[in-house]
Amino acid sequence: MQFNFVSQKFNELDKTTKRLEMTAILKELFLEADEDLKMLVYLILGKVAPDFEGIEFGMGNKLIINALSSVSGKSEKEISGMFARTGDVGSVARDITAVKKQKSLASEELTVKYVFNSLRKLADTSGAGSVKEKESIYSDLILNGTPDDAMYITRVIAGKLRLGVSDATVLDALVEAFYEKTDKSSVETAYNFHPDLGYIAELLRDRKIDQIKKIGPEPLIPFKVMLAERLPDIDQILGKMSGEKAAFEFKYDGLRAGIHKLGDRVRIFSRGNEDTTSQFPDIVENLKKTFRAESVILDGEAVPYNPETGELYPFQMVSQRRGRKYDLDEMKETVPVVVFLFDILYLNGESLVSKPYLERRRTLESLFEENDSFKMARSVVSDDPGEIEKFFEDSIEHGCEGVVAKNVGPESVYRAGSRGWLWIKFKRDYQAELWDALDLVVVGAFHGHGRRKGTYGALLMASYNKEKDVFETVCKLGTGFTDEVLFSLPDKFSGLAQDRKPPNLECELEPDVWIYPEKVMEIVGAEITLSPVHTCAFSMVKEGSGLALRFPRFNGRWRDDKSPTDATTTNEVLEMYKNQSSKNK
Ligand code: AMP
Repeated sequence: MQFNFVSQKFNELDKTTKRLEMTAILKELFLEADEDLKMLVYLILGKVAPDFEGIEFGMGNKLIINALSSVSGKSEKEISGMFARTGDVGSVARDITAVKKQKSLASEELTVKYVFNSLRKLADTSGAGSVKEKESIYSDLILNGTPDDAMYITRVIAGKLRLGVSDATVLDALVEAFYEKTDKSSVETAYNFHPDLGYIAELLRDRKIDQIKKIGPEPLIPFKVMLAERLPDIDQILGKMSGEKAAFEFKYDGLRAGIHKLGDRVRIFSRGNEDTTSQFPDIVENLKKTFRAESVILDGEAVPYNPETGELYPFQMVSQRRGRKYDLDEMKETVPVVVFLFDILYLNGESLVSKPYLERRRTLESLFEENDSFKMARSVVSDDPGEIEKFFEDSIEHGCEGVVAKNVGPESVYRAGSRGWLWIKFKRDYQAELWDALDLVVVGAFHGHGRRKGTYGALLMASYNKEKDVFETVCKLGTGFTDEVLFSLPDKFSGLAQDRKPPNLECELEPDVWIYPEKVMEIVGAEITLSPVHTCAFSMVKEGSGLALRFPRFNGRWRDDKSPTDATTTNEVLEMYKNQSSKNK
């Protein structure tokens, strides 16, 4: 397939915000792709490998500008000026190659395979001399294609393709292209246990449906973690559970950790499937001593703590480990971490995900002795609201956020990537009559005035509508910022700011700056109200109205562990609105 065919389709994608149209365009591309399918799928997502391989191009705007200067003969200053005007290094590359093209007609046409392999080579080039090598691979690519090709290739390398196409849309289009839509759920399950769309795409194209249905947890491959719904009181929670009883567990406030062991190899993944193994050398070492199994996959929460007293510390202390090269002893002393385990997905070659919850938990308990690095999450199985209330208070006293209730009936499988009602969280905020925090995505910003001149005065925040795969606005946020945070906002969002509305955003308001949905912030507020201007759950409660969060305030917590599609969903906001209305009756 010629890469220019892809660029043309990217132009079409760029012009629509309708998911159905996007899916149709992608489907058409996939049906034409043939042996290029896997490469094409990665390119559409702006990548050359699944996220969990952690491959990066290592070529920022500065290097791209250098290269554009060399190929065009224009000075770096001139090109930086063009970049400053548009904020999009891709369109600078397009404009420069368009002029260049008129002068030389020597270019060949690029194929998808050639572009993919060159990009892969560019990413793999490192060490001494790599800058020159990267520049030369890049220049070759942009000079041999059309100006639009140059634009999209540049955006991929800069990490700014931003077509508004999510993994879910790609998956939909793949299913439509190669499979019956009616059985989408088995493909979704496969993807949730093996989140590599290139891999799934090839299986679908080759009609290897049996193989897809067999995909389950695999050691060293991250899985999409199981998630919890939320409810504001214990009676409602018990009502949702199928059995009479449910398991209630401490809800630890740390970082989710999917822990994999295969022989001597260990990998730890975050909630967003980022490889965080290097942050936890102590956990890696102790895992090998604690779990003698040949292969195992565990799910738990890593929490900083004091091993002498058992006291739990704020989760931010785990983040201090990020990017720092402590040696093991120093790290153990400065920020000791314990993992509270609550699930097991795989043991010695066998998947356990379809076993009921208590059976999985018993297997896990029998597998290891608690120590400084690994403990079981505290749990009680009960249907007695009094006992559960006490357990909840106990959890708060121990520095936890509340409890997670877990279904213990025969249907209580491990459901990767999904909320369902098998797990339900119940937090302290519900009790204090303040609503639980929402994890909202920044999609726009308004210039500040007066004391806030020079920074943003407010941010526009959105929830994620999973069914439509779009973001919908919920509130304008201007409270809860320290001065330091406030004045760092323009810098923080500089790479995401753009002058046109992101394609995957439904919005009635006109912020001064649009922000591509990527950053998630934790926001508290007073209540959910009907709103004529916000698009969250628009016309779902009342014709012509959406839902809004009243008195929103940033609580200081950036949810860098959540991708935008992990944000609070529109459905959750709707549930919160309904629960609140029934409470007020
Ligand atoms: P939230 O981040 O508010 O959506 O709450 C869900 C998160 O709570 C999970 O992703 C886990 O990281 C965390 N968590 C803490 N303790 C538990 C537990 N016992 N069971 C399940 N999740 C837990």
